[in-house]
Amino acid sequence: MKVLLATEKPFAKVASDGIREIVEKAGYELVVLEKYTDKSELLKAVADVDAIIIRSDKITAEVIEAAKNLKIVVRAGAGYDNVDLAAATARKIVVMNTPGQNSNAVAELAIGLMIFMARNKFTPGTGTEIHGKRLGIHAYGNVGKLVARYGKGFGMEVYAYDPFITDKAVYEKDGVIPVGSVEELYSKCDYVSVHIPATEQTKKSINYDLLSKMPKGATIVNTARKEVIDEEGLAKVLAERTDLKYVTDIAADMQVVLNEKFGNRVFATPKKMGAETQEANVNAALAAANQIVAFFTKGENRFQVNKW
Ligand code: NAD
Repeated sequence: MKVLLATEKPFAKVASDGIREIVEKAGYELVVLEKYTDKSELLKAVADVDAIIIRSDKITAEVIEAAKNLKIVVRAGAGYDNVDLAAATARKIVVMNTPGQNSNAVAELAIGLMIFMARNKFTPGTGTEIHGKRLGIHAYGNVGKLVARYGKGFGMEVYAYDPFITDKAVYEKDGVIPVGSVEELYSKCDYVSVHIPATEQTKKSINYDLLSKMPKGATIVNTARKEVIDEEGLAKVLAERTDLKYVTDIAADMQVVLNEKFGNRVFATPKKMGAETQEANVNAALAAANQIVAFFTKGENRFQVNKW
């Protein structure tokens, strides 16, 4: 069995060493392709492998076509919009993610970004506090739940909206108030922390109408994906409402324009870094390797995201 670790942006060494140990202990061969700069390198590397571990690397239909022996792809991380699921499913290739493994890293960053904006991007002058403010959690998944918990730790009043979690008890046990619509969440909250995945339904769903509903002085914190924001709508509302702020871990396509136009009211991390902690690297990397071994040895498919 041959496992490929294909990471344009490599894991911390301790994490890739951990993958090697798990894979080799299972009696499989590990091949590593790191820091590749051209798609052709990936196409060549996948030719004879049975399994692939990736991070934000793109597994397109072309890559799947080139991987004749491929049986499983594991995205070490939460979002899997970088894998062509339809192409994988057509070949009955299992695609998995490693949910929850980097959630804490992302949640801590979301809170950090809130404070950073509340304190005028750490420039001199009078800022505000997040204590006592209303925090809206847009999608109550692994990251959203942790941001809610940490927000409560800071003395925030926490609301959440997730149409797929309808059992009120899930929110209530965390001291979080569920709201009935996304409009209600944005109308109510001083901070909205975005945690929806990028899907056909969610892309550009955070638009002008929704953002216009936010209360005076509100801040949107996006550590999810840039695609869920309607960037034209965001630019329009930021121009009309000089009290609103937008902070993100995933620079918008028009981030340069946003930075120029809205200065201190917008910020994007220089490079997506939500999951970039040593702890998250290790957690996600080891989970990916263990999931591959469990899949081949026991048929374990708990984290499969494509079904047929
Ligand atoms: P998760 O799968 O645990 O949770 C996603 C939640 O979104 C689920 O509870 C689901 O019910 C909800 N949801 C789906 N569609 C929705 C909709 N239309 N409206 C409201 N809720 C909806 O994922 P997670 O680990 O919490 O991660 C959330 C997202 O954050 C990921 O999809 C990924 O895109 C992003 N992410 C970014 C980084 C980073 O480095 N910045 C790292 C990890 C995850």
